[in-house]
Amino acid sequence: MTATTQAQSVSDQAKKLQSSSIVIDTHDDTTQRLLDPSFDITARHSDGNIDIPRMREGGLSAIFFSVWISGKTLGPDAVKQALDQIDAVRETVRKHPDQLLLATTADDIRAARQQKKIAALMGVEGGHMMGNDLAVLRTFGALGVRYMTLTHMENNEWADSSTAKPEHNGLTDFGKQVVLEMNRLGIIVDISHVSDKTFADVLATSKAPVFASHSSCRAICNAARNMTDDMIRQLAAKGGVIQINYHVGFLSQEFRDFEAAHPDVEKEIKAEVDKRCGDNEACKLTAGDHIVREFMEAGKLPKVDWTRIVDHIDHAVKVGGIDHVGLGSDFDGAIMPLGMEDVTHLPQITDALLKKGYSEPDIRKLLGENTLRVLAEVQKVSQSLNK
Ligand SMILES: [Zn+2]
Repeated sequence: MTATTQAQSVSDQAKKLQSSSIVIDTHDDTTQRLLDPSFDITARHSDGNIDIPRMREGGLSAIFFSVWISGKTLGPDAVKQALDQIDAVRETVRKHPDQLLLATTADDIRAARQQKKIAALMGVEGGHMMGNDLAVLRTFGALGVRYMTLTHMENNEWADSSTAKPEHNGLTDFGKQVVLEMNRLGIIVDISHVSDKTFADVLATSKAPVFASHSSCRAICNAARNMTDDMIRQLAAKGGVIQINYHVGFLSQEFRDFEAAHPDVEKEIKAEVDKRCGDNEACKLTAGDHIVREFMEAGKLPKVDWTRIVDHIDHAVKVGGIDHVGLGSDFDGAIMPLGMEDVTHLPQITDALLKKGYSEPDIRKLLGENTLRVLAEVQKVSQSLNK
């Protein structure tokens, strides 16, 4: 039996804690699959990381569906594609009212739980999708979007990304207006993907706590997408949360170093993905995940174990405090480590935290209470700005 199929044993205490807690994942790319009319989220799938049966098995109470398109698509095309994805999420909820509830507040998430439904929320991953137009941002808000990641991997016209050459020295004046309008609308400012200078400008501008919807710790794995200890401390001082990302390339320095030293392996993976998927983005997102794990198991890549996620959580707690860490898996959009093949494996994290000596109330904070607090705070700031 391989590590991929081996069921991890989880204690009864962890199972009970998981099922009695509000568990929130702030970043899932499953939206790409929702665009495919043949994809049924209520059925259990053998591919991908997320569907309703598996979310229930893993004890996930609330999911942020990421609205994502490449940062290279701009203007009216970007706005249209974002609206199509928002519609896909809303239509999925409309068709399954017995299973899903469209949530925009912390109270909605609690209500969904009372009704034994999964709360569906939305985040727009990349400010380029608002087409430099605050009216589009307001429309996103009206449709239920509750966070916007200011950039994706490219800079846009008003903010620098962590993975592109700086153009604006952080946020432009318009970028600062975007942040303030998000504050007024009650949309959380997401600083995952942005450059360190953009992050600093956001903290100086925002009137509400901000979060990183899917970022890990740079002290453990030196990726520009991860947060330094200083950034984690500043985020915490602002009342925010770092939601730990499970992507192998953000968890493991060994994996990153190997990839950098062996560009041929990356080419081989890309060729295999293209062979299996062609132009189908949803297929690419899930196939890449699968192929890399096949390569890890075959010894072609360093093995990254799911317990690395717990290392990042523990580090972020030590640096930023127990009130400022959460979960932002990047399921269906990244390469999951061995043992975290899908959302059903989530209770292992709870189990590992218990074994590390974390108390049950503290684990509840990490699983979802911290994110509920940020949602409520951002809503409160919005209400006061609209007075
Ligand atoms: Zn991302």
